[in-house]
Amino acid sequence: MKVHEYQAKQLFAEYGIPVPEGDVATTPAEVAEIAGRVGRPVMIKAQVHVGGRGKAGGVKYAADPASAEQIAGNILGMDIKGLTVNKVLVTVAEDIVSEAYLAIILDRSTQRPVIMVSTEGGVDIEDVAAKTPEKIHKLPVDPTVGLRPYQARNLAQALYHPPDLVRQATDIIMKMYRLFWELDASLAEINPLVTNSRGEIVALDAKVTVDDNSLYRQGRIAAMRDLDAEEPSEVAARDADLSYVKLDGTIGCIVNGAGLAMATMDLVKRHGGEPANFLDIGGSSNPQKVVSAMQIILSDPKVQAILINIFGGITRCDDVANGLVAAFKILQPTVPVVIRLVGTNEKEAAAILADMHLPCANTLDEAVMKAIQLAKVPVTAH
Ligand code: GDP
Ligand code: MG
Repeated sequence: MKVHEYQAKQLFAEYGIPVPEGDVATTPAEVAEIAGRVGRPVMIKAQVHVGGRGKAGGVKYAADPASAEQIAGNILGMDIKGLTVNKVLVTVAEDIVSEAYLAIILDRSTQRPVIMVSTEGGVDIEDVAAKTPEKIHKLPVDPTVGLRPYQARNLAQALYHPPDLVRQATDIIMKMYRLFWELDASLAEINPLVTNSRGEIVALDAKVTVDDNSLYRQGRIAAMRDLDAEEPSEVAARDADLSYVKLDGTIGCIVNGAGLAMATMDLVKRHGGEPANFLDIGGSSNPQKVVSAMQIILSDPKVQAILINIFGGITRCDDVANGLVAAFKILQPTVPVVIRLVGTNEKEAAAILADMHLPCANTLDEAVMKAIQLAKVPVTAH
């Protein structure tokens, strides 16, 4: 789960990491009020869950409350990479002397938190990694030992020379690691980490992503979730207890089991189609889940065919079939649906589905090809 920059900065502040003073607002009038309170020029920053807001016009300077109000009017409601800006952070504009990069990620290959620092801050770190990888310093941290101060100092020395800056950066890196660890984060990033004309190091931007699987014990973070800022279909899927990721293709996929769901998507690609989603309805036999899954997939206007691929192990095919009958009654889909339903109670399932005259397939290849072929036919022709 991602939190907004203003929330990440609240967390930073609690851990003692310096951030510019500021507050969040949802209307231009509130922005003017905060700018007045700050009494200095401010930055107005769109709060959406994407990077590169600056380039997209979502980060702007305002010299006084009146211009802050006007600029906020432009940014609020703006569309950045498909997300609508509902909130802005109004924060003291810093006079930047240098921009660096600091991040901690959970690295699956080393199975450790890895700290990354670079003097090339304020730009896309992917570009730095591609063009000048030697400018990124990495340190895997042994989680059983934790981050030692000398390790943090070495990283700080890769960023700064003056002893006072090294001291400040060491302190920030130690605190970032503590935050990352205690909040079960998978990412904590400052880009850019700046020095200002007063010789202070400040986190100008802040990103924190927390592992969804730990939200049960990170109640505070879970409460920070901003449903307005997330993909509506993914919110609905989470509420229905489905593992769902929206993609851009035309073939909606309903599958049980994450591995089978991945394999199904691979096969759709292999036969020349594009999956519209990843969806795992789970191993249990719950007809309601099938209804929710259909509902979510049908709400995507790009979907031109639905492919249902169920292998009944613990899942009982007749339960899934009952779910499908219910879903068809409620939702009356206009896009074609292809079903491959094999395994436990498949005969019963076939009997339940017989009256519905749905295109059934015996093999997975057959089902996938059928779905792709039907997706190409205009919907009105079915
Ligand atoms: P991002 O584009 O989503 O990563 O948003 P950032 O918060 O990183 O802001 C983008 C860029 O705007 C930064 O790299 C800075 O160059 C600039 N910027 C942001 N805040 C300030 C500020 O307080 N003062 C100045 N001078 N520039 C800022
Ligand atoms: Mg940034």
